[in-house]
Amino acid sequence: MTATALFLSLSLMTQPDSASASRFVVRELPYAYGALAPYLSEETMRFHHDKHYAGYVNKLNELLLDSPFAGQPLEDIVLSADGALCNNAAQAWNHELFFEQLSPQPVREPSPELRAAIERDFGSLEALQAQMNRAAAGLFGSGWVWLASDREGRLSILSEPNAGNPVRRGLIPLLGIDVWEHAYYLDYRNRRADAVAALWNVIDWRCVSDRYAHL
Ligand code: MN
Repeated sequence: MTATALFLSLSLMTQPDSASASRFVVRELPYAYGALAPYLSEETMRFHHDKHYAGYVNKLNELLLDSPFAGQPLEDIVLSADGALCNNAAQAWNHELFFEQLSPQPVREPSPELRAAIERDFGSLEALQAQMNRAAAGLFGSGWVWLASDREGRLSILSEPNAGNPVRRGLIPLLGIDVWEHAYYLDYRNRRADAVAALWNVIDWRCVSDRYAHL
């Protein structure tokens, strides 16, 4: 092989394909599908991750092919796009946060800093959980209940329909509860309140506290 031919074949190999270069990948779960049972079954996690979350990522990639947002970071798309592109980008982002904050061996206590902020803004951890449970029960249709912080560390609870995400309001999401029926219907049928109550057993407060430590 001549030097020129070698150079050409190497440059073809490393040439980024403009379509694949801007594609988002489906992130693996950081635990086994069945690891969160009995609170979330393996079947629920397989459908939620492999069908619903992966579906949002695939649809997002499809919509990006013909979009000026191609190549932009996910958060920028969530912030600036609208319509189907924004919805699928936000659902991809929301699910990555959601799955990451769950653990089969969760740390059950917030960090001292986050606990102090929770006690200042809600009275107690139990009061915060009760308020998020009420928000989840009261959200009509599909959506998310968020614990979010501003840049100064002040906490708030947001109830957002559909793919709603606190970053669109200038806030930083710390913890997200998915209240779409696909998140719980196989295990809990119509009992959303039971599903949310069970979810607290697998919320890893170390992950939530890490987010609060890096506002
Ligand atoms: Mn979901």
